[in-house]
Amino acid sequence: MVNSHRKLIFHIYIGFYCSAITLPKICVCSQFSTPFINQFSKDPEAFPVTTNGEPFPWRDLRLPHMAIPLHYDLLVHPNLTSLDFAASEKIEILVREATQFIILHSKDLEIMNATLHSEEDLRYKKPGKELKVLSYPAHEQIALLVPEELIADVRYYVAINFQAKLADGFEGFYKSTYRTSGGETRTIAVTDFQPTEARMAFPCFDEPLFKANFTIKIRRESRHIALSNMPKVRTIELKEGLLEDHFEATVKMSTYLVAYIVCDFNSVSGTTLSGVKVSIYASPEKWSQTHYALDTSLKLLDFYENYFHISYPLPKLDLVAIPDFGPGAMENWGLITYRETSLLFDPKTSSASDKLWVTEVIAHELAHQWFGNLVTMEWWNDIWLNEGFATYMELISINATYPELQFDDYFLNVCFEAIAKDTLNSSRPISNPAETPTEVQEMFDVVSYNKGACILNMLKDFLTDEKFQEGITHYIRKFSYRNAKNDDLWGSLSNSCLEGDFISGGFCYSNSKMTSNTLSFLQKNVEINEMMNTWTLQKGIPLVVVKQEGRSLRLHQELFLKGVFREDPEWGTLQERYLWQIPLTYSTSSSNMIHRHVLKSKRDTLELPEKTSWLKFNVDSNGYYIVHYEGHGWDHLITQLNQNHTLLRPKDRVGLIHDAFQLVSAGRLTLDKALDLTRYLQHETSSPALLKGLGHLELLYHMMDGRNISDVTENLKHYILRYFKAMIDKQSWSDEGSIFDRLLRSALLKLACDLNHPPCTQKAAELFSRWMESSGKLNIPADVLKIVYSVGAQTTGGWNYLLEQYGLSMSGAEKNKILYALSTSKHQENLVKLIKLGMEGKVIKTQDFAPLLHAIARNPKGQHLAWNFVRENWTHLLKKLVFVYIQYYLSEQTCKRKKKGSKTFYFQQVVKLIKYHYRKFRKYRKPKISYYFIAQRVYIFQNRFLSIAFLVREAVLEVLCPRPSPGPD
Ligand SMILES: [Zn+2]
Repeated sequence: MVNSHRKLIFHIYIGFYCSAITLPKICVCSQFSTPFINQFSKDPEAFPVTTNGEPFPWRDLRLPHMAIPLHYDLLVHPNLTSLDFAASEKIEILVREATQFIILHSKDLEIMNATLHSEEDLRYKKPGKELKVLSYPAHEQIALLVPEELIADVRYYVAINFQAKLADGFEGFYKSTYRTSGGETRTIAVTDFQPTEARMAFPCFDEPLFKANFTIKIRRESRHIALSNMPKVRTIELKEGLLEDHFEATVKMSTYLVAYIVCDFNSVSGTTLSGVKVSIYASPEKWSQTHYALDTSLKLLDFYENYFHISYPLPKLDLVAIPDFGPGAMENWGLITYRETSLLFDPKTSSASDKLWVTEVIAHELAHQWFGNLVTMEWWNDIWLNEGFATYMELISINATYPELQFDDYFLNVCFEAIAKDTLNSSRPISNPAETPTEVQEMFDVVSYNKGACILNMLKDFLTDEKFQEGITHYIRKFSYRNAKNDDLWGSLSNSCLEGDFISGGFCYSNSKMTSNTLSFLQKNVEINEMMNTWTLQKGIPLVVVKQEGRSLRLHQELFLKGVFREDPEWGTLQERYLWQIPLTYSTSSSNMIHRHVLKSKRDTLELPEKTSWLKFNVDSNGYYIVHYEGHGWDHLITQLNQNHTLLRPKDRVGLIHDAFQLVSAGRLTLDKALDLTRYLQHETSSPALLKGLGHLELLYHMMDGRNISDVTENLKHYILRYFKAMIDKQSWSDEGSIFDRLLRSALLKLACDLNHPPCTQKAAELFSRWMESSGKLNIPADVLKIVYSVGAQTTGGWNYLLEQYGLSMSGAEKNKILYALSTSKHQENLVKLIKLGMEGKVIKTQDFAPLLHAIARNPKGQHLAWNFVRENWTHLLKKLVFVYIQYYLSEQTCKRKKKGSKTFYFQQVVKLIKYHYRKFRKYRKPKISYYFIAQRVYIFQNRFLSIAFLVREAVLEVLCPRPSPGPD
């Protein structure tokens, strides 16, 4: 993000160096008649030119490896009154190849001076040599020009003094504020560096491969505390009452994991079984919401140490709730930073789903202390090795430590979310080239996180739990304090048998004749890296089509696409390019046995041992593929579900509902068939299956509701109430029951109130009145809070009262629920007011603006308002909101995955597409076409044509905020 004051600093900086070269004391120009300048005069086009017209000696976005950092000594002094910071650093570097310049990353920093010492200079206390500094902002790099060539294999020390403003956004070293209950605004300073923002806080080798040790010192006033990655070793008193905290040197790590905070927070602490001190920090009045996080992180840290058989390598771990934070959380080693709503748990206002979220984010960030921090991907193209693993470890760790949270069932949604994006032709492979900071930023998406986790889950199911655990332990051990890539992981997971510790570990599933990646599976050989490359290097998800003919099963695989149909000209060419090695599983009506088969070719045939009435592929939905049953396959399954659904496993029932609606949206199954499937739900007792079915029906209802097709909307409303009324009416308005009973209660009551089901709206209105009469003191069960507020927000008095409470509430969980409720108002002037407050960023923080816009766009009364607002303020929003993922919503024709166009270009393409497809959509809205036909077309349009309603409701705001609540990093 570039803002006006940073531009100012940059100009001062350039001005400084323009004048500096005229000052002999700072710069002796004759000293710099280096070979590259000679080369420049011969071939000027080979070099970029700095803003002051001088040649910059390095052309690439990536740094050279001629010099590598070993150690950084960093002293930072933020001033929370003037909102700037002064700093100095000394970087110990090892020169690997003789060079006359050192290239570092630096962005928006004003560099005062830079000097170089050799080891001899230091030994004999000689003054250092002044370095000339050139800046090339387009690559966020500076070049330090040395007067004499640096010698290979020798260590040098570069000292730099610099200063800057504390940043305005959520990146680099930035300011964050919070309000006390007394109305006072307090400021803190905090860092967030991933992926490429450490360079905004100090000049550095800002690439994950350049691991080094960091010794950090922070100056502060006595009313504040300072925190960093490592424990504090001492505090020194300086003049004018300032204090300087010195922290222990870190372990070897990448720059994006460095962190420091100056704040006035309070903490709670505990110690793990292995003696690591864990503390949770929050602003003083939120201290009471920190206890759940402490219990959870102690439990999870113990779990991970046992699971990996590798101790957490630092003596302490702090988790800090930051009032203004971009992503959900950030895994800085030893000092994890979170949004307040990702860490704090308020027993009065945090719902079952809030509890799941907090637990999930803590589990994710703690897993990163190994996956990401200890072993780091070589480059951002493989960020999934960090994010996919951390997301997957949520499942392993929470299942083991909090079985009552039924995270196993919840994890299915992680994969369904990935599938929703991966079925568009504009998706990307998990491992994907990314060079510029924007491209790197775009890698932090549902493909890296969710799809990464899902293919690991599939692999674990294929390998078994034990082999998977041993494989990843081996991977972490082997690459500790180093960097790794895809093949390193597959090598460890497939067990080379060449590693001594593996042989002694007692298992080896290859023989000497096989290659190191071979796994013997059902008497056939499977090359793990070959198999997994089909999942990481190809985009998309396979569709497995199954046709039963007597005891023969005909299988074929194809690329599953929602946006391109079989009648489209590109269909054939696209299909030719894709082939997966799919570890299939299936069960049949004849036995409980799980059958396995690896489908490596486009087509295959299997013989069943006995005749069977139905077949279900993808047992427990562990595989990352969609299944279509041709012939009578779906009918047999639907019959079985209606006769006795319990013969199919609970997760298989969820998977069937999911796949059926995916196939509808791709035009491969009729909506009638999918709705037929959901009819059995009136007898369903498993909450995950009910939630899945309800979710699809609700989505369908809202799609109709936004289109003024009143007869269709009414039909669907009656359909839903007919099958779910009994279930809705028996719900209590409480927080009782298992986690999924509670999630189901929230979903059922929300749907009932959305459908204006009188028993629901009346109960909610009554609770809201009592809450208002008690001046907000009445405790409403947290799981129904959002529903009660949403019903209350429909009256002018209720809406205004909620807005007032929003400003006063000390609970982020409650504020989120109030904000959602406010966004459901049917009055445009209220929605306009919310947008205005969001733009101001005071009452409604900027971090909450994207989810707010998202919620307004989901309100039928807010769709056009949100759309017009986004269109008119596009450029401004791009600056304000950091995470932008546009490419998913564009077709191959317009985007081509080149990402070279500006974001304005993408936006224009979106507008063009909307207009085109809206016209197409209207063509289908002829009178007298059947309800099912309309519904199915609308459902397909959602995915295929980016119709106006879809774009406004889903895409535009998904573009700004890809998930309703932002994901952890
Ligand atoms: Zn992460």
